Amino acid sequence: MIPVDQALAIVLDHTPVLPAEEADLVHAVGRVLAEDVHADLDMPPFDRSAMDGYAVRAAEVARAPVVLDVAGQVRAGQWPDHALEAGQAVQVMTGAPVPVGATAVQPVEKTRPVDGGRRVEILAPVEPGAHIARQGAEVRAGERLLERGRTIDPATVAVLASAGRGRVRVGRRPTVAVLVTGDELVDVWETPSRGRIRNSNGYAVLAQARWVGADARSLGVVPDQSERIADAVRDGFRDDVLVISGGVSEGAYDLVEEVLARFDVGLLFTKVAIKPGAPLVFGRRGDKLVFGLPGNPVSAQVTFDVFVRAALLRMQGAKVVSRPRVEVELLDAVKNRSGRPAYSPARVGFEAGRLVARPVASQGSADVVAHAQANALVILEAQQLRAEAGEHVPALLLGNFLERDGSA
Ligand code: AMP
Ligand code: MG
Repeated sequence: MIPVDQALAIVLDHTPVLPAEEADLVHAVGRVLAEDVHADLDMPPFDRSAMDGYAVRAAEVARAPVVLDVAGQVRAGQWPDHALEAGQAVQVMTGAPVPVGATAVQPVEKTRPVDGGRRVEILAPVEPGAHIARQGAEVRAGERLLERGRTIDPATVAVLASAGRGRVRVGRRPTVAVLVTGDELVDVWETPSRGRIRNSNGYAVLAQARWVGADARSLGVVPDQSERIADAVRDGFRDDVLVISGGVSEGAYDLVEEVLARFDVGLLFTKVAIKPGAPLVFGRRGDKLVFGLPGNPVSAQVTFDVFVRAALLRMQGAKVVSRPRVEVELLDAVKNRSGRPAYSPARVGFEAGRLVARPVASQGSADVVAHAQANALVILEAQQLRAEAGEHVPALLLGNFLERDGSA
């Protein structure tokens, strides 16, 4: 059994970064940026009014109220044809270029038209620079806007669009084949007969792979028979990553390791010190990766999240491949009698300015319902048998953390 950190380091050491490809900006969200992006223009590209109002010389309206001649109007998208002269104001709209000579914009609310709009009364003084966004104040042409390795979120899309990038280089999506083993499994459409259960891992793993940007397909469910598993494994090696659920522990019908050996898979580890999880196979065949996840549904989800997800992100070139780790204050005690570091489901949220965690009552590593109530995993070290309410412990925030707050 090897520690989590060591196992993760082994996975990442053996994970190739796939060649980059081009994506349309419209389809780039969720992908990993594979190039540094620089500004082609100053932002803003010209001195721009931030308000509807009048461009003035701030010094001239220091003793407002003051009446000025209206020398013209500039709308967004137009270009001022005159500089602002002494005694003048120019009406400007939000987003319009401000004429040369203007040092501030007074919002329309602090003005009053005079002589049917030929002149304007500025009702109050305005600070020099007020409501003018100066050319290049945000970014100068040539500056780096975005670093490669970052996952493209909607805010990143806005930056790419501003930089004129209708197409952008992104990491290729890894292809993933998901193989589920187990004599006891029936498909979701069926009501299980006596002794059988529904296959949930196959669907959960597909969802987890897709959520992290992989192109995942199902190889279906195969019974615990070496030949059947071997046929499916052969098919799975057409993809970048093969993820197998079940059949990796010590039982008489846990056949996955034996089958992988036939395919000359170099096994890099077969057990990791984590609860839920322990049996966890990682191997490599050329530049293809194989993960054998424990069949217990929560174990499968947690080990996917910590190891497979990291590999799928690294293949796309992502810099950050692990969930955010924060420190939380426990609202109830948690126990750990496993002798391994325990990752227990919890709901994390803010309470009176503190990040607090309420452990979710769980029946163990088959309890998918409890796991789905969690938005984080609180971590107790192997030797830590119990942590009391009020104690601070580390927690990994899960992918649903931002969608679901910590309240019950
Ligand atoms: P295994 O790792 O194959 O020994 O399976 C461990 C436990 O997880 C057993 O109780 C299995 O019935 C259960 N299990 C295995 N595969 C699945 C699956 N695809 N969906 C739900 N439960 C499963
Ligand atoms: Mg099994």
